[in-house]
Amino acid sequence: MSTPYQIAVIPGDGIGVEVVEAALTILDATGVSFEFNHYEAGDDCKAKHGVALPDETLKGATDAQAVFFGAAGDTAAEVILRMRKELDTFVNLRPSKAFQGAECLYPKTNIVIVRENTEGIYMGLEKEINPGEMHATRVITEAASTRIAKYAFEYATQNEYDTVTAIHKSNVMRLTDGLFLKCSRTVAKDYPNINYEEQLVDSAATLMVMDPYRFQVLLTPNLFGDILSDLAAGLIGGLGLCPSANLGDKYALFEPVHGTAPDIAGKGLANPTAAILCASMMLRHFGELDAAKNVESSLETAIANKQSTADLGGSLSTMDMAQAIINHMKG
Ligand code: ATP
Repeated sequence: MSTPYQIAVIPGDGIGVEVVEAALTILDATGVSFEFNHYEAGDDCKAKHGVALPDETLKGATDAQAVFFGAAGDTAAEVILRMRKELDTFVNLRPSKAFQGAECLYPKTNIVIVRENTEGIYMGLEKEINPGEMHATRVITEAASTRIAKYAFEYATQNEYDTVTAIHKSNVMRLTDGLFLKCSRTVAKDYPNINYEEQLVDSAATLMVMDPYRFQVLLTPNLFGDILSDLAAGLIGGLGLCPSANLGDKYALFEPVHGTAPDIAGKGLANPTAAILCASMMLRHFGELDAAKNVESSLETAIANKQSTADLGGSLSTMDMAQAIINHMKG
């Protein structure tokens, strides 16, 4: 038996707990060997222990080969933003690919957002200048912009996408997004086989709704990537379908794009697809391609057969959908 992959599991709050349980059941069914070590973080953890991200959880995350995270509610910034920073995961990779058989606006959507994950407006540099006047600082550096651009072009090359589109607002934020574009253009020159395009973030939002098939890999600063990935989720049938990977040179953390969804939490209604796609991204990260393909094709079959939760037109609970997927898995 091979040495198990060591995974730090942080289910967090709300539907995070339910979708993570479903995804771990699927991972167990692949036959790949995992050791799952569970840790606490999030709102419930803060209420219980006075801290949203305990040192023990952070240590568990840095000791593991990968982190599997669910969602955190009001404490999201204390938990996930801090973990992204501590683990120096400079890429936030967010694929939005439509499933055959799932009702959605654009059934051939296949957009991957490569979002810069360490700076921009997410650095939390906000201050009160005077009562009634708050300032936020948006940080864009050449080093971070260049490394995320390189990742986007490498990803496009390795995954057979033709086009990378840099998203910006450089007509307003001339210096910060001017630098982001300058770095993107420089990196683009090293990839002559990939088309390089640029799009203002506001026009990109319109075009994604009217003609999403023109987009493939979107290279974005931090906040724009966050917003456009929710938009992309809407194109393919909702937030329940979109996974993400936070990747750095050393660490990898997988999490659904959605949050805790308090309106449906604890009811078994949460769609586990995003978390299950996180599981397949994690399998690919470890080079377990056969297992990843097995999960992905079984998930596609279940969705096409309407063996799904209500948001996709089915009538199954979160765990029943996971079981239906397992029933389609080979081996
Ligand atoms: P948070 O404050 O944690 O971000 P939120 O409810 O504001 O939570 P999301 O959790 O991202 O934001 O979700 C927004 C809405 O989308 C939810 O209220 C829910 O109706 C729907 N939703 C999100 N994830 C799922 C899912 N996995 N399955 C079904 N519906 C979902």
